[in-house]
Amino acid sequence: MSTLRLEIVTPERKVYENDVNMVVVKGVSGELGILPHHIPLVTPLKIAPVKAKVNNKDVFFAVHGGFIEVRKDKVVILAEAAEFGSDIDISRARLAKERAERRLAQKQEDINSSRAELALQRAISRLETAEREI
Ligand code: ATP
Repeated sequence: MSTLRLEIVTPERKVYENDVNMVVVKGVSGELGILPHHIPLVTPLKIAPVKAKVNNKDVFFAVHGGFIEVRKDKVVILAEAAEFGSDIDISRARLAKERAERRLAQKQEDINSSRAELALQRAISRLETAEREI
């Protein structure tokens, strides 16, 4: 089965690099399945789990926004933060979710509520990713 190179990078570190059979991401305009020889593209990503198929096994990553760049034989995902599914600290994500929900419940229409909304999305995506990785 043919492969493409997947790299997931944050400003802090390289989270993942491997030859994979397929990558599935949530772009801002919908879900994208990328197989080898996909046409080149660049698009922003939603805060959502990313799936890669490696030797017929699915692996999951929590990717927090950023961009995907599809080149001829390589896919680069560049995000502010990203974690391999099995590296996610579930209790930390649960606490972050509760904290964000508490802040949003205060219903203040200010800059902090959009920060809390993003923190909530990151926490939900981490919990979803960790659940799928098990
Ligand atoms: P928290 O409030 O728990 O810090 P956060 O969403 O504000 O969550 P980020 O700013 O997105 O955290 O991430 C800061 C760093 O911590 C990044 O390197 C990120 O990969 C890591 N990180 C955050 N939450 C988790 C988690 N639940 N499990 C593993 N790594 C995490």
